[in-house]
Amino acid sequence: MSCKKTEWLKFNASDQEEIAFPLATIEGAKPGPTVTITAGIHGAEYPGIVSAIRLFKELTPETVAGKIQIVTISSLKAFESRSVFVCPVDGKNLNRVFPGDKDGSYTQVLAYHLFNDVILKGNYYLDLHGGDMVEALVPYAMYHKSGNDKIDQKSLEIAKYYGLKYITSSQPDSKTKSGGTYANASEHGIPGALVEVGGIGQLDEESVNLHMKGLYNVLRYLGCLEGEPVIPADQTFYDESVWVYTSKKGIFHTKVSVGDEVSKSQCVGTIEDYFGNQIEESLSPINGKVMVLTTSPAVKDNGQLMKVAGKPRKI
Ligand SMILES: [Zn+2]
Repeated sequence: MSCKKTEWLKFNASDQEEIAFPLATIEGAKPGPTVTITAGIHGAEYPGIVSAIRLFKELTPETVAGKIQIVTISSLKAFESRSVFVCPVDGKNLNRVFPGDKDGSYTQVLAYHLFNDVILKGNYYLDLHGGDMVEALVPYAMYHKSGNDKIDQKSLEIAKYYGLKYITSSQPDSKTKSGGTYANASEHGIPGALVEVGGIGQLDEESVNLHMKGLYNVLRYLGCLEGEPVIPADQTFYDESVWVYTSKKGIFHTKVSVGDEVSKSQCVGTIEDYFGNQIEESLSPINGKVMVLTTSPAVKDNGQLMKVAGKPRKI
């Protein structure tokens, strides 16, 4: 039966703390695939959250084929406390603990239910992200190479149809993969992509519009909505992407801007101690483009400074 509904899924963590997340569903009037959309896996990535809510408000069952299930804010405690990267209840990064553990800590139980009760019930998956409160970025999509060619090809197509200019990938052995939503989804047979738009704690209409354009285009491509999906022109795929870390905590002075092209061994930033002495020089490990940049000068031991994508090719 076609309908639009909102509900709260509620569970208890092992410490008995209640976990809840908002799920909005559109059951279409016509048959079609089930598409899952999650936003707010990181609670301060606002354009994705607001786009997910806007999509639900705009769609009607009459125009939808299949089912679209949207978790509008996955990490509610992080959203409500304006927490950066981690869930404040147990200090874990939700995007590092998938597929979760039903007997684990708060974030692990949350991941378990998001994964088993929502993501695995769909046929396709989109995870809406952006730079967190302390990150600026160039909008890009990421898909996971699970090793299953059919799934991976579909994931790449979904990433392409989101329409952003840049695409990167992750692999089972890469550091960035471990515990990620979209990576685990694709390894469980659900093609999908993670998309990064917006950042530094801003809710800007330009980023929301990019998400909305991408969401509608992918839903057309997957057959949930009428209309021809647009095949994006002039996209660049990066075969390599590397995080630059500081080994020491301190005050980070960047020497680059997000989107800059850098060369291998170029000095991209320095770290000073709290008396102004330079204690580290950060060098780019590859030739490439600065996709994500930490905008806060306060960095931890082994803290992320920037993500550089290299080996570009047109697709
Ligand atoms: Zn994120």
